[in-house]
Amino acid sequence: MASEGEKGRQRPLWVNPLFGATDPVSGAKTVLPRHRLPDSPMTPTTAARLIRDELMLDGNPRLNLATFVTTWMEPEAHALMGDTADKNFIDRDEYPATSDMERRCVAMLAHLWNASDPDAPVGTSTIGSSEACMLGGMALKRRWIHRNADRYAAGARPNLVMGTNAQVCWKKFCNYWEVRPRLVPMEGDRFHLGAEQAAEACDEDTIGVVAILGSTMDGSYEPVAEICAALDALRDRTGWDVPVHVDAASGGMIAPFLEPELEWDFRLARVASINTSGHKYGLVYPGIGWVMWRDEEALPDELVERVNYLGGDVPTFTLNFSRPGSQVIAQYYYFLRLGHQGYGAVQRATREVAMYLAEQIEALGCFRLLTRGDELPVFALTTTDDVTRFSVFDVSRRLREFGWIVPAYTFPANREDLAVLRVVCRNGFSLDLADRLVEDLRSLLPWLRKQPGPIYGPDDATSFHH
Ligand SMILES: *Cc1c(COP(=O)(O)O)cnc(C)c1O
Repeated sequence: MASEGEKGRQRPLWVNPLFGATDPVSGAKTVLPRHRLPDSPMTPTTAARLIRDELMLDGNPRLNLATFVTTWMEPEAHALMGDTADKNFIDRDEYPATSDMERRCVAMLAHLWNASDPDAPVGTSTIGSSEACMLGGMALKRRWIHRNADRYAAGARPNLVMGTNAQVCWKKFCNYWEVRPRLVPMEGDRFHLGAEQAAEACDEDTIGVVAILGSTMDGSYEPVAEICAALDALRDRTGWDVPVHVDAASGGMIAPFLEPELEWDFRLARVASINTSGHKYGLVYPGIGWVMWRDEEALPDELVERVNYLGGDVPTFTLNFSRPGSQVIAQYYYFLRLGHQGYGAVQRATREVAMYLAEQIEALGCFRLLTRGDELPVFALTTTDDVTRFSVFDVSRRLREFGWIVPAYTFPANREDLAVLRVVCRNGFSLDLADRLVEDLRSLLPWLRKQPGPIYGPDDATSFHH
């Protein structure tokens, strides 16, 4: 979205005279500085109205097909979250019931992901997958340092292997924790990490391989089991024993319900840790993620701090200290409310919508699907070769006229030539809405075909697609 223009930034905030508490005329005289604290207070009603008015300019979250993050929850969940917004999760001694719910969620995920000993689960809630990935990556790095103390002291620099499709949090991890990223490029129609390529990129300084279930770029699952097998073969050849972290930000809450036979989790001996975003297909509003280790050995004890000044001896392994308790409670609510079968039904419905929508868009005749929404309920598409008059960026722009947010972007190395649109289906996006999107797209095509050529390109992209 465009931000306020130069004039807008300089002008004081404008207040509707009707918002004045009793006297509309006094309200009219009120001007508020935009970038300094106002000198004096105003009534709660006026402040809330001012903010609600301004928020109208935000997009409609339900029509946002760019984000993976939950945009609809049940009224009961809303109420529960509102009622518990005052609980600081970290005050475990103060709020033992909230803390118990977190432990139960961790145990449930340990079962769901087939941890070695689900009765002694090793894991924690986080603010999202980004924090969870930082923690997973830190454990990998510390374990590598233990195995290579001499080489590390002599200046060896650790590296982490992943596909160029890896989410930006992994680039941050490498940057912040001084680990060299080894990005395996895309090649031809391989849009994510391949098993052989992963093994080839490893050496004695590789702290781990990140396998993604599934890719944010196109919704495809990376071949976790094949990657583990290729790393087994690498160990047999070289002695380098490289652990795998599965970034299951989305797929961790899809695959266990829809493909229970797919082995991607702790059933694979090489998988050391797994993260997921509770606020993606875990169905909770943003700020909740989870990270699990296969066992205590996978999480070096020295990374766990013990705090006692809140009363009680509390182990903590997180980057944040204070954070909302309501998100943990909302996650527990959905685990309890839906159960295994309920999550299965919800995710199956979402994937049906994604696959239906992909097919309908393909049938329009000028788009080629790169994925079909049959892994994550997410798919990417590009224009067919004969389309020369408009770009995916044009399509993205024009869809905004109807309120749809569908991002367009180019793929990373070595497929920078490929520009795609991506659609993320979530719970709450219905078949009816899918039909509307297809109709809106169909109605745009005659206009797009009349263009002399593409108008917008990658530099004009307006949507953030991570
Ligand atoms: C969304 C996502 C992340 C980051 O997760 P947040 O919960 O938004 O911090 C990391 N990895 C993958 C694969 C993702 O899809």
